[in-house]
Amino acid sequence: MRSKKILIVEDEVSISDIVKFNLVKEGYEIDTAYDGEDGLNKALAKAYDLVLLDIMLPQMDGFQVCRKIRETSSVPIIMLTAKEDEVDKVLGLELGADDYMTKPFGMRELIARVKANIRRIELDDTVSQTSNSKVTSYGNLTIDMTKYEVRKGDKSLELTLREFELLRYLAGQENQVFSREQLLEEVWGYEYYGDIRTVDVTIRRLREKVEDDPGDPKYIMTKRGIGYYFRRPE
Ligand code: CA
Repeated sequence: MRSKKILIVEDEVSISDIVKFNLVKEGYEIDTAYDGEDGLNKALAKAYDLVLLDIMLPQMDGFQVCRKIRETSSVPIIMLTAKEDEVDKVLGLELGADDYMTKPFGMRELIARVKANIRRIELDDTVSQTSNSKVTSYGNLTIDMTKYEVRKGDKSLELTLREFELLRYLAGQENQVFSREQLLEEVWGYEYYGDIRTVDVTIRRLREKVEDDPGDPKYIMTKRGIGYYFRRPE
């Protein structure tokens, strides 16, 4: 199996070096960029399996870099944040980042996140290669489980990878209620780490795209005090 390629975009050389050292030890192939512009150019020039993207960067900040990458690529992106208020921004913006980590972070946690985000992609690739297109309709919502396409009526919805996976997971098991911890584990692939707010934010973004009235959802339902479930509308 070819080794996975990761791009580290981080201007603090000491952090970049230690992250690189630990990921190389895990068998990953690493490229580095030390400013946003170089990071963006590299991310677009080569097929990476994952991008680690710092937010405060010279030339172009991580938010802009993330947006630009998302215009053409669905590579998993983990944002590296220095402050709690940056976390809120990562979660609140329509950046399309898959995950984030707050500095300082431990190397074991970083490696666990990297593996989880890369493994998720591999599983999906296996599914798309081995099964025929599986299209399911729920009311006027159509989900193509293997082609990553969601249509509402005749309109195609632009979902991020994570939004799609969350929708696919919930819709694949109609009416079954999942806790946020369960969803984090099943959809994001974390066993011990991760922030359940990530689930709430992704649900909110998904509702904004899928529901006619996100404040009064008909598909993605909240079970108060427990979690979320998908309902087929009547
Ligand atoms: Ca920085």
